Amino acid sequence: MGSFLIDGKAIASRVRGEVGERVKHLADRWRAPHLAVVLVGDNPASATYVSSKDRAAREVGITATTHRLPASASEPEVLGLVRRLGQDGEVDGILVQLPLPAGVDAERVLEAIPPHKDVDGLHPTNVGLLAAGRPALVPCTPAGVVRLLKESGVVLAGARAVVLGRSQLVGKPMAQLLLAENATVTVCHSRTRDEHLEVRRAEVLVSAVGKPELVRGDWIAEGAVVIDVGINRRPSDGKLCGDVCFDEAAQRARLITPVPGGVGPMTIAQLLWNTVQAAERRLETGGRG
Ligand code: NAD
Repeated sequence: MGSFLIDGKAIASRVRGEVGERVKHLADRWRAPHLAVVLVGDNPASATYVSSKDRAAREVGITATTHRLPASASEPEVLGLVRRLGQDGEVDGILVQLPLPAGVDAERVLEAIPPHKDVDGLHPTNVGLLAAGRPALVPCTPAGVVRLLKESGVVLAGARAVVLGRSQLVGKPMAQLLLAENATVTVCHSRTRDEHLEVRRAEVLVSAVGKPELVRGDWIAEGAVVIDVGINRRPSDGKLCGDVCFDEAAQRARLITPVPGGVGPMTIAQLLWNTVQAAERRLETGGRG
């Protein structure tokens, strides 16, 4: 069976268009949403991510500010900045770029973000709300995956879904979101036995492991939908690749995401979505904090 590609770039551009409309509407009634990004240290990959988030925000009319601290910043300094942004009535969304330098506890820093400004959805309150099936700010990558699936017409209710990986950032919230869509969800991780047999049962597979081409074509059920979150370097040629061996899986899957150009573009689009959502909620609740 031949696969159809899920075009993450096209769907992300549609999402950005919708965000742009909502930003305009807010700006007419109140003001443009404001995203504050905190970058600590000089990790080049983090700096690149932050500048692309900043650019994407500005493109849709969101006000974006980047707050930089040196790698030598102490935990109290980072906490002080995050708390100031938390109290700033002009700031709607706060994102702390991870990883943080050694000696700064990421959990404590994330907990200092007020949950209603936590556009990465990593504050324990948002994690709990998601688990309880209540409205929450949800981590951007798994929220983007659900949007990709829906836009591609995949019916999730009753579908057998398998998630590979159980990180706080992707795997766990992915499983919760699929459950909220009434899929029957199995989560596999580093200690799962006979993983290929679990994957073979999947009608919808989402892989978020970080191991190049771990998932082979013969793991995939004929006609499955395959979403590859992984971004890895292939050891043989150093090229970008996912967790799934694309050429093999494309022989069996019905729909599949490429790497790059699949899930990646959705992550930033969803961050913009979360930012406008946080701003809309703040306006509804009288612009508190
Ligand atoms: P992580 O390292 O925090 O988590 C990886 C998870 O995989 C862990 O829960 C681990 O238990 C599990 N794991 C290890 N071996 C496994 C196996 N054989 N089978 C199943 N699970 C296994 O990584 P993460 O932050 O969740 O990211 C995962 C991948 O997704 C990475 O390649 C990362 O670069 C990529 N990623 C992409 C985006 C995007 O926007 N496309 C966003 C976030 C992460």
